[in-house]
Amino acid sequence: MRKKLVAGNWKMHGNLNENDALLSALVPGISALDNKTGYAVCVPYPYLATVQAKLQNANIKWGAQNVSQHEKGAYTGEVSADMLNDFGCSYVIVGHSERRMLYGESNQAVAEKYLAAQKHGLVPILCVGETLEQRDSDTTEQVIDEQLKAILTLAGVDSMRNAVIAYEPVWAIGTGKTATPQQAQDIHRFIRQGIAKQNSELAADVTILYGGSVKASNAEELFAMPDIDGGLIGGASLVADDFIAICKAAHS
Ligand code: PEP
Repeated sequence: MRKKLVAGNWKMHGNLNENDALLSALVPGISALDNKTGYAVCVPYPYLATVQAKLQNANIKWGAQNVSQHEKGAYTGEVSADMLNDFGCSYVIVGHSERRMLYGESNQAVAEKYLAAQKHGLVPILCVGETLEQRDSDTTEQVIDEQLKAILTLAGVDSMRNAVIAYEPVWAIGTGKTATPQQAQDIHRFIRQGIAKQNSELAADVTILYGGSVKASNAEELFAMPDIDGGLIGGASLVADDFIAICKAAHS
């Protein structure tokens, strides 16, 4: 039986004071929820140590938003999976559309990051999704198929045992436009069926999150769809009451 997960993506937001206030509200709010659902926050690198200290005994895991595909070496500005382990990370987001678009991460680079994360015991949250132009030209499935194929080719279908997938239509990220529950469900099913072609048991077990303008007001209907197993939450993860309400929607 696959587990639900609600993960916050703080992006490049926060500071020591704001993070402390946010987590001080999240810890008691989320501790009241059942542990059948997993909860996590993916934070900027410099705050991993303080987030680790703050969440040590809470039912909220933490992670990063990117990782190098390399083990170590002359890669100025990069952070390795092993370094993330030093701070107790459980998760790392790979292939977020902002990284793909703003920093030119190819499907191949994303697959290498995914593999590097898993090699070091981190669970990659693999983001896939189409732009508006791709949706309008009816190539959504083809785009997602290529994004997934890069992973399955490099890491193999067995890697899905220790991975989370996040379907994030690019046109819905930070725009206030959410995919309808049915639009999201259709793509979630497509992703699961794609994995099932190689291993139906793993496909049934893999957690597939929806991300893109999830709010307290729309989370419940999205999470009620059969192939949607929770959410990757950007903007709303920075507001304690909103994030707690979204977490509640996943376990109701
Ligand atoms: C995201 O950045 O992963 C995201 C889903 O953002 P938002 O919820 O703000 O659309």
